[in-house]
Amino acid sequence: MRKTLQPQPGIMDIAVYTGGAAHIDGVREAVKLSSNENPFGAGDRAVEAYRRAGHSMHRYPSTDHAALRRAIAETHGLDAARIICGVGSDEVITFLCQAYAGVGDEVLYSQHGFLMYRISALAAGATPVAAPEIDRTTDVDALLAAVTPRTRLVFVANPNNPTGTMIPVSELERLAQGLPDNVLLVIDGAYAEYVEDYDGGAGLVDALGNVVMTRTFSKAYGLGGLRVGWGYGPAAVIDVLNRVRGPFNLSNMQLEVAEAAVRDREHLERSQTENARMRAWLAEALSALGVPCDPSYANFVLARFADQADAESCDLFLQREGLIVRRVGSYGLPECLRITVGDEATCRRVVHAVAQFKGQR
Ligand code: PMP
Repeated sequence: MRKTLQPQPGIMDIAVYTGGAAHIDGVREAVKLSSNENPFGAGDRAVEAYRRAGHSMHRYPSTDHAALRRAIAETHGLDAARIICGVGSDEVITFLCQAYAGVGDEVLYSQHGFLMYRISALAAGATPVAAPEIDRTTDVDALLAAVTPRTRLVFVANPNNPTGTMIPVSELERLAQGLPDNVLLVIDGAYAEYVEDYDGGAGLVDALGNVVMTRTFSKAYGLGGLRVGWGYGPAAVIDVLNRVRGPFNLSNMQLEVAEAAVRDREHLERSQTENARMRAWLAEALSALGVPCDPSYANFVLARFADQADAESCDLFLQREGLIVRRVGSYGLPECLRITVGDEATCRRVVHAVAQFKGQR
């Protein structure tokens, strides 16, 4: 590279995101349990909308996403004017860092927080800061203790990926109340739909003025490949985020499919019910095999092995059985494997394979 073509400071500290593998060389029909996707796929209404949307490919899409925002607002009882939509909630996280954090600023999250917080902070020129957790769970006191005059954003995924743990909304409120006025708390609810009686913090957004929540269509709605997420925040914050958002960030396809999906209660409820049933079964069965799992509130379990070598050899064993799970060493959890909750047959396959792996040792 020419010496003058240097990227901005911080960019070379970002490791290129490699994500979950989609196949295993030499293994046909591998099952992918590495990206927390919905085993039931997209709902029928979303698939129909996708077909319909093809007819409008020659048209530029809506720039203000009004119809999708209205559908989200109606479903969740929110103010449509204070919703912003992005290419996955990843893009909303990027907007937040771009708009509120720059060189010399700090972006705070907890130790095993979602990787995008660090990536987006560094891409914006800011410094990522990770606060310790207690038992793989967000610790509000540790976050508050890590706040400095440079802190601009605090991200809390609730439930968190890759731990699956969560904290009550009262703790989020304590965090928001304890932050200085110029710090924004972002409650990332990517897995919200999988929590029974979820309180996503919309009340906090409305009451406090320094809270934003983010959500996604990638998980319970079964639309990871579509790439649509959204955020809800105070009017002034949403106005700022809309200024950094590209005018046509979402395609006709994304907008129409997401709108159909948000109105499809049936598909969502089936995904929720099946996930709750199989998540409990999977966690219990793995624990009985000597691979403990923390209680998960999401659509995956974090399986804890004796050490890194044990986790890695189980991963290789599962790969030979055609099961792709996720190593989470990059999250500081090298002794763990994150396993997406599949349908019943897949969960049984996972448990059978882990039992065989354990039996060999
Ligand atoms: N937040 C968390 C905690 C996640 O796990 C993910 C997906 N891995 C996202 C946000 C981003 O999801 P998407 O961009 O697909 O909406």
